[in-house]
Amino acid sequence: MQRREFLKLSTMLGATGVLPGLMGGCSARPLPGTGEVRTSPTVCNICFWQCAATLYTENRQPWKVVGNPHDPHCNGRLCTRGSGGIASYGDPDRLRHPLIRVDKNGKQSFRKATWDEAFDYISDKMQTIAERHGRDRIALFSHGDGGSHFQRMLQAFGSHAYAHPSFAQCRGPREVAFGLTFGEGVGSPDRTDMTKSRCIVLIGSHIGENLHNSQVQSLTEALDNGATLITVDPRFSVPASKSKHWLPVKPGTDLALLLAWMNVIINEDLHDRDYVARYCSGFEQLAAHVQPFNPEWAYLETGLEPDQIRTTARAMAQAAPATLIHPGRHVTWYGDDSQRCRAIAILNALLGSWGRPGGFYAQEKVDLPEYPAPKPPKPDRDWKADVQADYPLVSTGISNVLIDHSVGPDAFFKGWFVYATNLVTTIPGVRKQLEQAAQSLDLMVVIDTMPAEITGYADVVLPECTYLERHDDLRNKPERIPTLALRMPAFPPEFDSKPAWWIARGLAKKLDLGKYFPWQDYREVLDWQLRQVGSSLKEMEEIGVKTFPRKTPVYFDPLKPVTFNTPSGKIELYSPSLEQTGHDPLPKYTPPQRPPSGYFHLNYGRAAAHTFGRTINNPLLFELMPENCVWVHPSAAAGLGITSGQYVRLKNPEGAHSNRVRVRVTQRIRPDSVFLVHGFGHTDQRLRLARGVGADDAGLMHNVKIDPVMGGTGMRASFVTLVRKEA
Ligand code: SF4
Repeated sequence: MQRREFLKLSTMLGATGVLPGLMGGCSARPLPGTGEVRTSPTVCNICFWQCAATLYTENRQPWKVVGNPHDPHCNGRLCTRGSGGIASYGDPDRLRHPLIRVDKNGKQSFRKATWDEAFDYISDKMQTIAERHGRDRIALFSHGDGGSHFQRMLQAFGSHAYAHPSFAQCRGPREVAFGLTFGEGVGSPDRTDMTKSRCIVLIGSHIGENLHNSQVQSLTEALDNGATLITVDPRFSVPASKSKHWLPVKPGTDLALLLAWMNVIINEDLHDRDYVARYCSGFEQLAAHVQPFNPEWAYLETGLEPDQIRTTARAMAQAAPATLIHPGRHVTWYGDDSQRCRAIAILNALLGSWGRPGGFYAQEKVDLPEYPAPKPPKPDRDWKADVQADYPLVSTGISNVLIDHSVGPDAFFKGWFVYATNLVTTIPGVRKQLEQAAQSLDLMVVIDTMPAEITGYADVVLPECTYLERHDDLRNKPERIPTLALRMPAFPPEFDSKPAWWIARGLAKKLDLGKYFPWQDYREVLDWQLRQVGSSLKEMEEIGVKTFPRKTPVYFDPLKPVTFNTPSGKIELYSPSLEQTGHDPLPKYTPPQRPPSGYFHLNYGRAAAHTFGRTINNPLLFELMPENCVWVHPSAAAGLGITSGQYVRLKNPEGAHSNRVRVRVTQRIRPDSVFLVHGFGHTDQRLRLARGVGADDAGLMHNVKIDPVMGGTGMRASFVTLVRKEA
């Protein structure tokens, strides 16, 4: 008998029936807008871009959600997913009640619990962990706006370890690389000044498929203004189709191309000499380093014609400094990702685009004071010294490293809180490790709005209400224009779901830590904060978004000296910090592994209708895109004897199979690669729309390369083949 069996929520909840409401097609309803209409401000939570919006209800039922026209972050527009977000409220598969794992006669299941029972169970386990192992042995994994409340509760308890998978499985390499080079990361939203760019280079970045709203708007505006778009991608993606130059690079060789571009720009004296002399250090070492990497060398690695490499390098230089080599967002690919992102940062520096119009602007947010509550005490010892000492250049948690330290009887971590992140599909190739962690952890709490595969490992599942039913912290992101935006409930929470602030506070009170949560209602916190900056909750409930004047310049002032937040105070083309920590101080190219015979590089990406696996079960978005398909080049398809529309399974060299997935034969992909949209292939039976449709790319990843600089998981080094399967 296992200590913690994987449980499918359906075994306890007995889900049956059909989906009401939003999937119901046409009926004899009155025309929209003819009933009692009310509006309330919100901030979209269907992805993490946080566009401000207005929710319309009619006769107290959800009607529509539209962009707030006063929000400079979204310009009054929502993307497809944001518009479909309203269906998350009525999703019949939502988590409804707290659940506690029980063991009856050797058989495990979940039982419905009250909040008080759930808090008692969790606090008892936390106290036991503290007594046996120490108060610092509980980790938080979080990917959502309410995570800060659980972070506060755990810090008050004595556990400070937290990780956002958005670092080690997504943006981490570029944040570390840009931090090493410029002394600051790119941040989120990205500080890219695309509307003013005259040349934009996208490397494996799918803006337009990845619908980060304002980025798509900025790219579109730049193209309307005549900007040159260069797209580097093994696949003819949507942005590739808008590009002047499409470079179908061999997977894994992007860094070879970047080195060749630097070679051309330096050797043809196309770099911004004044900018480099004024702001940068290490140019001589860089110039010597790139000498061997001419376009002819790069041709053998990348498969790209030397002429095309030279032409595109010159196009970038011609438009500089209004040239943006886009840093990308999901950049954990091949394990040398920090080095590739360093090469992108260096190339931008050579062209003088950091701090200049059309390149990267300086972000600013509202100086919003913290509510006057006691601060959790600082720990005597930093948990990172015990868990991730191998990554001294990283200041945040590395999710996969925290999981490594949760397996086995002597593991550091004994308890987990998992908030709004389905670790099963977020961390590549992690299933076996999660099963092992589930056997050795003393507590696992999962908090989410929807069932997901991770809930199958939980001791306790806590249902959060949707973003349409709750207050969260004010949106206060570093941006071009400082703004605050309010998310407030349009409906009371359905079923027995609760907002994150309520859950964290309730648990803190049970742990005798209530003094760290001195408010009765989160409205008190929001109103107090807003009053410190000349507004109020009442005002924000009416307007939703408020803008504030900037206090700092958007770009460098050429008449003033600039000191960068690096050890030398300069932009560090050559990185002494990397050298001191045993890494290459200048980007070093390592040729990638090639697929075994009969296998293909597994590429994955996003689609306009979905955000990872989080939205597949959303009835409106499911209707738009109910399954993914696998892209295959015609020559590869002919070799395998498969045709478009046929179902296959994907298999990796270790024998792992996907669900059945439909084939799309297309010339829009290199013959050595296949492509999937990420997020499909759910197995949780409670997700009545999403279960069993499409293929899960994360479950096929077998060759996960760890970045030695920042510990992230390189997720594009895996291979698959296609196995015929009748529909
Ligand atoms: Fe919502 Fe789309 Fe904005 Fe994301 S980009 S917050 S899904 S509207």
